Amino acid sequence: MDKTDLQSPMLVSQAVLITPLELSSASISTRSTSFSLLRTWRYPVYPVSFKLRISLGPLLMFYRLFALLYSSTKSDTKFTMVRAPFLGLNHLSMRAGDLQTSSRSLSIGIVGGGVAGLYAALLLQRAGYRVHVFEGTDRLGGRVHTHYFNDEENQYFEAGAMRIPNSSHHSIVFDLIKYLQCSKLPSDMQIDLIPYNLTSPGNFVYINRSTAKFLDASSTTPRSVNWSLPGGAKAKFQDRSAKELMLEAVGPLLQKLDANFNDGFKEICRKFDHYSFRFYLTSILGWPTEVVDFLETVISQTNQFALSVTEIIMEFIDFSTKEWSTIAHGMNRLPLAMAHLIGYKNITLNARVNGVRNKDDGRVSISISGCDTTIDVTFDKVIMAIPPPALRMITNRPAWSEKKELAIRSMHFESLYKMGLRFKTRFWERVGPASCRGGQSTTDLPIRWIVYPSNGIGDDGPGVLLVYSWMTDADVWVPLTPEERRDLALANLAEVYNGKIDTKDGSVINVYDLILATSDAAWSARNCTGDAKFLPGQFSSRFEAARQPEGNIYFAGEHLSRHHTWIAGALESSWETVSNIIGPIPKLGPPDIRSSAKAEEEGEEVLKLKQRVDVGSGLDVANWEGTITTGGNGERGKVDFVLRLPKQLLGFDLLDLDNDRSGRSGVEIVRIPGSQGAKVRRI
Ligand SMILES: Cc1cc2nc3c(=O)[nH]c(=O)nc-3n(C[C@H](O)[C@H](O)[C@H](O)COP(=O)(O)OP(=O)(O)OC[C@H]3O[C@@H](n4cnc5c(N)ncnc54)[C@H](O)[C@@H]3O)c2cc1C
Repeated sequence: MDKTDLQSPMLVSQAVLITPLELSSASISTRSTSFSLLRTWRYPVYPVSFKLRISLGPLLMFYRLFALLYSSTKSDTKFTMVRAPFLGLNHLSMRAGDLQTSSRSLSIGIVGGGVAGLYAALLLQRAGYRVHVFEGTDRLGGRVHTHYFNDEENQYFEAGAMRIPNSSHHSIVFDLIKYLQCSKLPSDMQIDLIPYNLTSPGNFVYINRSTAKFLDASSTTPRSVNWSLPGGAKAKFQDRSAKELMLEAVGPLLQKLDANFNDGFKEICRKFDHYSFRFYLTSILGWPTEVVDFLETVISQTNQFALSVTEIIMEFIDFSTKEWSTIAHGMNRLPLAMAHLIGYKNITLNARVNGVRNKDDGRVSISISGCDTTIDVTFDKVIMAIPPPALRMITNRPAWSEKKELAIRSMHFESLYKMGLRFKTRFWERVGPASCRGGQSTTDLPIRWIVYPSNGIGDDGPGVLLVYSWMTDADVWVPLTPEERRDLALANLAEVYNGKIDTKDGSVINVYDLILATSDAAWSARNCTGDAKFLPGQFSSRFEAARQPEGNIYFAGEHLSRHHTWIAGALESSWETVSNIIGPIPKLGPPDIRSSAKAEEEGEEVLKLKQRVDVGSGLDVANWEGTITTGGNGERGKVDFVLRLPKQLLGFDLLDLDNDRSGRSGVEIVRIPGSQGAKVRRI
């Protein structure tokens, strides 16, 4: 087995796929920006890693030419990322001086290239603001991360987010996906949703060294897994399934959220947020500790009921959802597609922000380190889209309000651990009378959950399953070496599977013979993150303070939503933060009336866009780099727009301002930036 397979996906990508090569650094200053030019050039190499320092001069010309030629011939996503830093800071330095002429031209720096940071960038660009995203690592997506073992179909596992419930709480994710699906994207970034099976008939529970056959965890009863209960509790609890018990405990509270989410959430916070879920079950509902232990073991993970009632209710709000989806070819496509639309010139990788400073004129300067260099960049506003443990590592910053500092220090993050294991066959689909075609089996072993892929079901040849643990169950993996982690996972899987018969070819299963490669992600060991999971009282006492801006420094991320541990939460938080900065705006969504403009070519450089719009009581046109011809301001009723745009501007959005609280009304044309050429993109 290749040793690199044992490393975390992030380490694998650093070691094998790409290596930072610092080209140069030089100082540039403009009216609003003063910083060194940091260039990061990364290109594919083979396992050898090296760094070079060379000076700017004539090599830059050669580098630009090479990079342009190179990027125009490659569509592989690994290489498209290479293009990002090439245009990054240089572009920003050239443009920053132009940005102060109108409020629309504010420059906004975004720290963190997870989905929260990328979504903020897309929203702001749509509204006409200039943005630049700084990501501290060599890849985008943060906790959305697919690890590909190789280029063959379905040979990957989701080290981070893996599934999306088709429920109204996640509509922001599905709307974003529709938005991306309507955009022009390279074929290796197209997003297709496929069903994600939450359960499958062969899923089982393996507790106390024995298997409760073919039960998904929620149908398990204390009796079915020989769980010891005190005499007095047996009659009442031993034949009740985990699902029934959970519904009895949280059903009434879930109904409150269903009836009116905001009011329900406030009420739950007011009445129960200061209780741990365990306290709620034992002291408010009066359940015996043994029943609570059973429930926590089969449907949650060790010590998770120490979290607040509010957190556990929010965790279970989605699990009654019947249909779930995942992204074909990997969830990675979500951040990659977002980055493509943002434009690689507006993103810099390997740019870790380690300082934030308020300037006398109200703007915000951030210090960025990467490739042995530190630079300062100034923006009108900055969004910190990074988790609190990462924020806390930035010590070179002003002291914020006492409540904010307390929130950053205390918001609780739980550990998360996943390992993907690639085997020669998908034996889990071929064991016994019922097969595991998706869903998951639950154990009380260190691996805790065995999650079966919903992609490639029924394929012959190799397949990948993953093991998944959280909280205390995840902590135990962190101190182990990669080899020890692999051995532990295999030993646990062997305990469950070895000796069983593969019904397809009659062979006796031995996971040690079948293993091809492993890769893992201990999220608490990287970027200081797992997922936000609040302790008792934290929603009531920390949440609001954590969300508040500090002057022109704003905050976003999964932890600042009420929907922790979901992509939806990260996007919601981002949308709220951007709305806070620029006023109420629509979320990104599928095309609507605004997309009906007709585009015609007019000469080599110009696109002519025609649209008939009902402008209501006036026309307010933000003329960016195009020319607009209308019947004239003050016109009522239908007006024909003709907008001439240089071809490099990708598309446009007619933003309906009727609901704009600023009192403006009419139609505003906002250009949609992008990098993919002359075609007009319909949005
Ligand atoms: C194991 C696991 C399973 C999950 N399962 C699901 C699921 O099935 N469905 C679902 O919807 N959600 C799931 N989630 C949750 C979801 O992935 C997250 O809620 C979401 O991706 C968080 O996005 P974010 O942008 O807020 O934070 P992040 O993704 O953490 O992004 C923050 C980014 O900031 C960068 N950064 C940190 N510090 C700095 C710095 N100083 N300078 C520059 N950059 C910095 C980080 O490298 C990172 O890229 C899962 C998460 C994990 C870890």
